[in-house]
Amino acid sequence: MTILDGKSLSNKIKGELKAKVSALVEQYQVKPGMAIVEVGNDTASEIYVRNKVRAANFVGINARLIKKDSSISQEELLKLIDELNADEGIHGIIVQLPLPKHMDERVVIDRIDPNKDIDGFGILNKGKLFSGMKCFQPATPLGIIKLLDAYNIELKGKEAVVVGRSNIVGKPMGMMLLLRDATVTIAHRYTVDLKKITKEADILVVAVGKKDLITADMVKPRAVIVDVGINRDGDKICGDVDFENVSKVASYITPVPGGVGPLTIAALLDNTVKAYEQKMQGLTL
Ligand code: NAD
Repeated sequence: MTILDGKSLSNKIKGELKAKVSALVEQYQVKPGMAIVEVGNDTASEIYVRNKVRAANFVGINARLIKKDSSISQEELLKLIDELNADEGIHGIIVQLPLPKHMDERVVIDRIDPNKDIDGFGILNKGKLFSGMKCFQPATPLGIIKLLDAYNIELKGKEAVVVGRSNIVGKPMGMMLLLRDATVTIAHRYTVDLKKITKEADILVVAVGKKDLITADMVKPRAVIVDVGINRDGDKICGDVDFENVSKVASYITPVPGGVGPLTIAALLDNTVKAYEQKMQGLTL
């Protein structure tokens, strides 16, 4: 069994991006800029945002954190996004989710200029992804593909099962595996016999948010296991997979923490640098 070491790969990608950004800044005399808009005080979001800002600064991206009180109206937030869309120093915009209940996430996210939509959550980027066109791909599945590629894991013709069908992980993950010629099944909360489905998987990606959802008896011997879940286990963090027992059956497995999480950030930075490069070259999606 081999551990899919997301942390090391993330550090490698960040190192490469840092060198690339330095060369591009030398060439264009403009620094890449990213804006992260955080509305309200969600503790988990604050940790993610802090990590994003730190990683962006490390690679040489100007990260601007804009915090707004949860009482901000949707109109005011849309106005802020319009300003960021027009800001020449900002190449990528993130609106940290979840947003307060009085806002329509769809409307807010779709206001971001698709060329600055580095999360790839806007409808245009999603539509392009599902049509197999060039676009900004959501960071978590993009990071997972980078991880599988780094370990030369063949996807073509493989049975891939994704558990979870969220718009930010499960669905785009399924599509990205399909684009890489895997045969894809997406399971979700109404899947009647989950074990029957997961047992068939050569590649199993689990993005649910339930500790120990996937046990060793649900996994095909020699399968590749990617655990996206983040759950609290006392004062520790764990994934959705019973790591101790599943790792005895799997050929490759991601740890939690240190697997998918760090790569999500690396992939986001990669998207930001792409958005910046595209803008500097006068190109659009
Ligand atoms: P979500 O909460 O939006 O959706 C969960 C999905 O799980 C749903 O599609 C639901 O149908 C499915 N589900 C629920 N119970 C199930 C069951 N018993 N069997 C099968 N499917 C079931 O999910 P999300 O936003 O994609 O997040 C999933 C997990 O991944 C969470 O723990 C989240 O914290 C984590 N996450 C991690 C990263 C990272 O960078 N590591 C990024 C995003 C999300």
